[in-house]
Amino acid sequence: MSSPLRTRWTIAPTTAPRPLINCNRCGGFKPYRCGGKFRVNANGKRIDVWLIYRCIACDNSWNFAILERRNRRDIEPALLTALESNDPALVRRHAFDSAALRDQAGRIEEFADVTVRKELLDGEAERAAALRLELRLEGTTPLRLDRLLAGELGFSRSRLQALDDQGRLTIEPDGARALRKPVRDGLTVRIDLAGEADCGAVLSAAHR
Ligand SMILES: [Zn+2]
Repeated sequence: MSSPLRTRWTIAPTTAPRPLINCNRCGGFKPYRCGGKFRVNANGKRIDVWLIYRCIACDNSWNFAILERRNRRDIEPALLTALESNDPALVRRHAFDSAALRDQAGRIEEFADVTVRKELLDGEAERAAALRLELRLEGTTPLRLDRLLAGELGFSRSRLQALDDQGRLTIEPDGARALRKPVRDGLTVRIDLAGEADCGAVLSAAHR
């Protein structure tokens, strides 16, 4: 039996979630977008840090609390520097933390657009008859696993279901119920493609 083609997909959500804030300037619930800047406020030894959001209709601001009333000496100097210089990677990490954003704003809207970076880990597309896929997720996404697989591999979702019914689709650790749920970091998907006419095309789509 040939060994499976092993690939890793790193999935990066493209559009940050937006909190829905009852806007006290233009009225009613409005989406607020991340402005890409922190505000660092020092009051004696106490430091507060917010990520600033703005109403898409009227530009009113809303503060997403990142650090609250923290003692300056408890904050790593490198972190403070990154916050004060609006380090893009740090902005991104917080802007895509939809759980924390939902906690503070109550309601958020999320977007399912992602970019997928594919790396070949092991195996040869010409010889393999199975695919083993490791999923890494940067941030969170509402994109369902079946939609991701269908889109990237050129499958219909009914074909994914058929492969599952035939016992040729293995998803760890959550099993096939993960198909209809948002993609999670750390999932492994194995698809047995032996005898499938488009096996070569699917394997090549999996790592390019
Ligand atoms: Zn507004």
